Amino acid sequence: MDELRVIYTCFPGGKHKVLTFSYDDGREEDERLVEIFNKYGVKGTFNLNAGLLLKKQGGLDKIGELYKGHEVACHTALHPTIERCPDEQVLRQVLKDRALLEKALGYMVRGLAYPNGSYNDRIVDMLPYTGIVYGRTVHSTGGFAMPEDYLRWKATAHHNNPELMKLGEQFNGLYKTQYLYMMYVWGHSYEFTDRNNWKVIESFCKLMSGKEDIWYATNIEIYDYMAAAKNLQVSVNGDMAYNPSAMDIWLEVDHEKICCKSGQITRF
Ligand SMILES: [Zn+2]
Repeated sequence: MDELRVIYTCFPGGKHKVLTFSYDDGREEDERLVEIFNKYGVKGTFNLNAGLLLKKQGGLDKIGELYKGHEVACHTALHPTIERCPDEQVLRQVLKDRALLEKALGYMVRGLAYPNGSYNDRIVDMLPYTGIVYGRTVHSTGGFAMPEDYLRWKATAHHNNPELMKLGEQFNGLYKTQYLYMMYVWGHSYEFTDRNNWKVIESFCKLMSGKEDIWYATNIEIYDYMAAAKNLQVSVNGDMAYNPSAMDIWLEVDHEKICCKSGQITRF
């Protein structure tokens, strides 16, 4: 067997599109947003300031239950504009947030949304020392490409983008499988209350829900899956793959979808 095959990385289930959300600040409106996400079967990441939440009634006690099925990520302990902060204070803001959230949640917290969208090369270079693997910016691309740099992760759009529904329809219509596509929407749940427009997110989630070819994932699920896919060992002949990671990884081999089981060699 020395025929050359076309082998592509796929998302779970052999899919090629992923939809994800990212919401900041952990205000009480998150509860309503989580309900909407759950109703339509979509998944999101919620970026919390543990130091600020501790000062509020209830503190961090309820976050495990409230955000169940979604991801909780860092947004620094106290939400400073970190570009203005000395190095060790940046590290402490991130590590303190991580430590408090991890203690409350019982799982590792490895994502970050930059508070006030504040980041620079110095901060990006520091993050690997805090165990943070991705950082979401406030830049929007209006496109569906996978991120080139997870520590400078750009969204497709803020939910206030007047083109949001049009972008959703465009994304739903993508059928070519040569590429992996991501649609990424971000914002703050309290903006829906401030602008009295909860309908925006309700309509969008309804439009996007229940699609066979879309993987509904949190930010960290996307990062971890792509990292595991990168670690997949594929033979030169393209007839087998060893998956050393703890999750199944999907390939498309000459248009056939193949599941490479965790910890096994799969022949195809
Ligand atoms: Zn914020």
